[in-house]
Amino acid sequence: MLNIALFGPPGAGKGTQSERLIKEYNLFYISTGDLLRKELAEGTPLGEQAREIIASGGLVSDEIIVQIIEKTIAENTQANGFLFDGFPRTTIQAYILEGLMIKLNTSLTCLIDLNVPESVSIERLVNRGKSSGRSDDNEEVIRNRLREYKDKTLPVLQFYKDKGVRHKVDASQSIEDVHHDVLEIIRQEQNKRLFNIVIFGHPGSGRGSQGKAIAEKFGLEYVATGPMLEEEIKEGTELGARIEALYASGELVPDEIVVPLIEKRLKNAENVRGFIFKGFPRTLVQSYILEGLLRKHDASISKVIEIEVPTLELIRRLDERSKTDRCMPYDSSTAKIVKRLQEHEEKTVPVIEKYNQLHEVSKVDGMAEFDVVFQRIVDIIEPREL
Ligand code: AMP
Repeated sequence: MLNIALFGPPGAGKGTQSERLIKEYNLFYISTGDLLRKELAEGTPLGEQAREIIASGGLVSDEIIVQIIEKTIAENTQANGFLFDGFPRTTIQAYILEGLMIKLNTSLTCLIDLNVPESVSIERLVNRGKSSGRSDDNEEVIRNRLREYKDKTLPVLQFYKDKGVRHKVDASQSIEDVHHDVLEIIRQEQNKRLFNIVIFGHPGSGRGSQGKAIAEKFGLEYVATGPMLEEEIKEGTELGARIEALYASGELVPDEIVVPLIEKRLKNAENVRGFIFKGFPRTLVQSYILEGLLRKHDASISKVIEIEVPTLELIRRLDERSKTDRCMPYDSSTAKIVKRLQEHEEKTVPVIEKYNQLHEVSKVDGMAEFDVVFQRIVDIIEPREL
C-alpha cells in the first residue's frame, strides 16, 4: 500500500495536489475537512457537534475525527493506498493514524509538508473565499485557522521527523513544480521500501516457475520454502540433519524450523528491492508469522497474486511432470498428487480468502503459454508499484 499524508497550513495547496496524486496512484482520498462538511450538509449529530467549531476556525475534537475517519477507512480496506489531506492535525491524531495503519497491516509511506509563508496562505484563502462558498474562507476565520495550525498542528511534524518519513516541499512554487517535487519524494520513498509479493496457486499452476521469472525481472529475491530446506540438508548443518530425519519419517517440517530460515533470508538480504514468497504462507498460522516477520523489517505485503488453473488441467500437468526429469519427489504418484491438491484446498485456500479480505488478491488466469501468463503477472505489478 502507498499511504501519503499531505501536511501544511490552510491554503498550502493540499487539495489541489491531492487531485492528481489520487488519479496517478489510484489512492483513496480522505480529507477530514470534506468528510466534516458532508456530515454538516447531511445534518448528522456529528456534523452538528462540529458546526460551530468549523465556523470559528478551530479544530474539531479528536473524538469526532477518529469516528469519521475510522468509518471511511473500514469501508475502503481494498484501496491501493490512502491519501490523507488535513489529517493528522494534532499529535493525538498522529497516534490514531499509527493505529489505523497497523490495523490494515501497513504504515504511512511518507508525510509531505507543503511549506508556504503565512502571507501566501492568507492571500490564497481570501481569493478562494470569493468562489468557494466556504464560510471559513474569510480573513478573520483564516487567521484563527492559521493560529490553530501553529499551536496544534505544527508540533505534529516532530513525530514524523523522528520516524524519518517527513519531507518538505516549497509550496509557494507553481502547482506544476510542487507536483513535480511531490512525485520525486514518493518515487524515492517507494524505492526505499521493500516490495513484497506472495504468489499463490495450486501445485501445478506454474507459481514456482512464474515466481522465479518475476523475481528476476523485478530484482526481487525468490523465497521458496522447499528449496531452502533442501539447501540446509545439502550444507550439512545441524538443522539440515533434523530436516532430513523429518523427511525420512514422512513428517511435515514444523514452523519452528521454517520460520528461522525465512527470518535469516530477510535479515541477510541487502540491496534487495523486495521478496517474492512461494509456498509460504501455506497455513493461516504462517500468514500471521509472515506479517510479523515483515513488520520487524518495517515492511509489509505489497501484492498478493493467485494463478488460477482448473483442477483437471492441474492433474494433467502434474501427471505429465511426473514422467519427466522435472518430477519432484512429491508428484511421483497419483495418490501423492491428490494429497497435495487436497492439502492446498484445506489449508491454503483459507489463507487466500484472508488476503482477499485484507488486500486485493490479484487473480491471474493461468490457462495459457508460460510467456502469456508471465505477461499477465507483469501487467499487474508494473503499472504503479515498481
Ligand atoms: P480543511 O478543509 O482541511 O481546511 O478543514 C476545514 C475545517 O474542518 C478545519 O478548520 C477544522 O475546523 C476542521 N477539520 C478538518 N480536519 C480536521 C482534523 N483532522 N482535526 C480537527 N479538525 C479538522
